[in-house]
Amino acid sequence: MSERKQETLVIIGSGPAAWTAAVYAARADLKPMVYEGEPSRTMIPGGQLMFTTDVENYPGFPEGVTGPEMMDRFKEQALRFGTRSVMENIASVDFSSHPFVLRPSYSDEIEARAVVVATGARANWLGLDNEQRLAQTGGGVSACAVCDGALPVFRDKVLAVVGGGDSAMEEALYLTKFASKVMVIHRRDELRASKIMADRLLADEKAEVLWNTRVVDVVGDESIQALELEDTVSGNRRRLEVGGLFVAIGHTPNTGFLDGQLALDAAGYVQTAEAWRTATSVEGVFAAGDVMDSYYRQAVTAAGTGCMAALEAERWLSHHGAPVEAG
Ligand code: NAP
Repeated sequence: MSERKQETLVIIGSGPAAWTAAVYAARADLKPMVYEGEPSRTMIPGGQLMFTTDVENYPGFPEGVTGPEMMDRFKEQALRFGTRSVMENIASVDFSSHPFVLRPSYSDEIEARAVVVATGARANWLGLDNEQRLAQTGGGVSACAVCDGALPVFRDKVLAVVGGGDSAMEEALYLTKFASKVMVIHRRDELRASKIMADRLLADEKAEVLWNTRVVDVVGDESIQALELEDTVSGNRRRLEVGGLFVAIGHTPNTGFLDGQLALDAAGYVQTAEAWRTATSVEGVFAAGDVMDSYYRQAVTAAGTGCMAALEAERWLSHHGAPVEAG
């Protein structure tokens, strides 16, 4: 007989997908346990929304809401129905037998009948100190144009987008609706983006690509004023005045702790059984939110998949694993 603490459903993550899964699971009396993760330099419990100032595209908030406040409210709603949560990472898992074994970073390992993985994906950043500072204080640096680009602070300004992939093209084209000019800063002389996206951007009068260029510093105290740029061929430096910086150099799904125990797609996202399902390659383990979605990456879509994962987990548990008393 195992001495490990037993849980019916463990949800790993603390973004919109995780808390929505918790709301549904708690209301289904599954007494979910949420491992929210730990604060670190690049990660804050609450997910990518913790880096977002005003969320204006989540239905039901006509006045907008800040990302952190929104996550507080998601959490409060989940706790109201009996969800328990702890600010700790799950460092590793053993999905090879059932019940599953989960190892938190500090506390004792636990067993779970079902698991929802909702650990998200982190935007890749350039890694500059001023970039991080201004991103966290709403100082005009963002990794999501669709989330932040329509804010009044970016209207009629010269905006910069870093990256040469489809995301950068998409973000730049989106920003042309609001900006006076969009400068795409790419480190090579050739775009990585698909031809159709690249052609669309190159044809846009408001967009201009700065080839062979990298950002070496972000200038600004409370809000961004300029970028320090370096020519990757000549090494020459120059300053470009901008009213906003959007970093679009890809995302990294947070799947390291799975250690290869769930099937991932070619880009490293958790693979689900089929579209509109959250079942993974291991029965009883479900995935929701940005960790399984490299395409939409929106709070509202993440919340939708969180709901789906909880409903699938509930149905799976009703056939495969009787609920245990929550401890
Ligand atoms: P991506 O294709 O990996 O492109 C990342 C871009 O960022 C590359 O141009 C890369 O430069 C640049 N980059 C990476 N690290 C950098 C750094 N440290 N400093 C400066 N530049 C850096 O990522 P993505 O654009 O996010 O796209 C991910 C996937 O989603 C792709 O398969 C894409 O096709 C897909 N997607 C599709 C659509 C669409 O179809 N509408 C929209 C968005 C994304 P290099 O080129 O020099 O490596």
